[in-house]
Amino acid sequence: GTTAQLDDEIENVRVVVRTRPMDKNELSAGALSAISVDKINRAITVMKPNATANEPPKTYYFDNVFDGGSNQMDLYVDTARPIVDKVLEGYNGTILAYGQTGTGKTYTMSGNPDSPQTKGIIPNAFAHIFGHIAKAKENQKFLVRVSYMEIYNEEVRDLLGKDVGKSLEVKERPDIGVFVKDLSGYVVHNADDLENIMRLGNKNRAVGATKMNQESSRSHAIFSITVERSELGEGDVQHVRMGKLQLVDLAGSERQSKTQASGQRLKEATKINLSLSVLGNVISALVDGKSTHIPYRNSKLTRLLQDSLGGNSKTVMCATISPADSNYMETISTLRYASRAK
Ligand code: ADP
Ligand code: MG
Repeated sequence: GTTAQLDDEIENVRVVVRTRPMDKNELSAGALSAISVDKINRAITVMKPNATANEPPKTYYFDNVFDGGSNQMDLYVDTARPIVDKVLEGYNGTILAYGQTGTGKTYTMSGNPDSPQTKGIIPNAFAHIFGHIAKAKENQKFLVRVSYMEIYNEEVRDLLGKDVGKSLEVKERPDIGVFVKDLSGYVVHNADDLENIMRLGNKNRAVGATKMNQESSRSHAIFSITVERSELGEGDVQHVRMGKLQLVDLAGSERQSKTQASGQRLKEATKINLSLSVLGNVISALVDGKSTHIPYRNSKLTRLLQDSLGGNSKTVMCATISPADSNYMETISTLRYASRAK
C-alpha cells in the first residue's frame, strides 16, 4: 500500500521485488533484458520477447523494488531492519524469499557469508540482534535461541539435529500452539555462533538432499530465531517479552513441465505448488483484512508460520526475478503472485 505511515510504524505485510543482474549463462546465450525497474514509482515493467502490437508491456507495483545494482545492505535496511527491530521489542516477524530457482532467494536470505558485502538477511540479522543486545540497559537480559528446519514434500526435517533425514511430527498444544516435536534448539551468545549454525544447516540441507536424491531447490528452509528479553522492573518484578523471527528461503516457484516430471517428482511438484499457493492465499487474506477465515491449516508451511503471520506480527515477502527475456513466463508468474499478495 502507499498510505503514509508514522515514523515508527510499518505495514503488517509488505511485498518487495528484487531482480538480480544478468548472469554469465544468460549473457553468453545472448539474452536481452525483459524488465525495467522504476524505483520512483516502485514498479516493475515486463516486456514480452518479440511482442506484437497487441501485447503491451505489463507494469506491476510493489512496496519497494530493487534492481540488479542494489546491494545487500540496501535491501536489509529497507526490508529486514524494521522487522528485526519489532522482534527485539517482543513481536513476531517473518521474512520470506519467493521466486524461480536461480533468481537469488538464497543469495538474498543467506548470501555469501565469507564476504561482508555479500552477507544476506540472515547473517545481517544476527549482527543486528547482537549489536542491540550489546547496548542493552543494565536491567535487561536477553536469551537468543535458534532452530533450523526444512519442509520437503510436506515432511519436516531438522537441519541441525543428529538425524537430518528423519521426518518430524507437527503437533499442537493449547498453551504453546503449533510446534515440531523433537526439533533441536540452540542457545547462542554471539553473531559468530549463529553464523556457524547457519552454515551447518545449509550444509545439511545440501547433503541431506543429495543423500536422498532430492533437489534442495524443492524444499522450504525455515530459520527461526527467538529473542527473549527479561527486564527487572520496579519492585524487582520480572517482565519477560518474547519475539520470534522466521527467515524463510522458499522452494523454487517454477512450474514443473509435465514431460519432465513424473511419478515421485510430479508428486513433489504438486505439493510445492500447493504450499506456495496456500501461502499466497494466507497472505492475501491477511492483506485484505476482511477475511474471517485464514487458511493456515492447509499446508505445513503456513501452519508452522501461523504465529508469525497475521495478528500484530510483521511480514515481508521478497520476490526475486531474473532480468532475462528467456525467463519471461516465470517472471510474469512471480510478479503476479507477489502483486496478488498485496
Ligand atoms: P535461488 O536460491 O533462488 O535458487 P541463488 O540465490 O542460488 O538462487 O542465486 C543464483 C546465482 O545468482 C548465485 O550464483 C548467486 O550468487 C547469484 N545472485 C543471485 N542474486 C544476486 C544478486 N542480487 N547480485 C549478484 N548475484 C546474485
Ligand atoms: Mg536457493
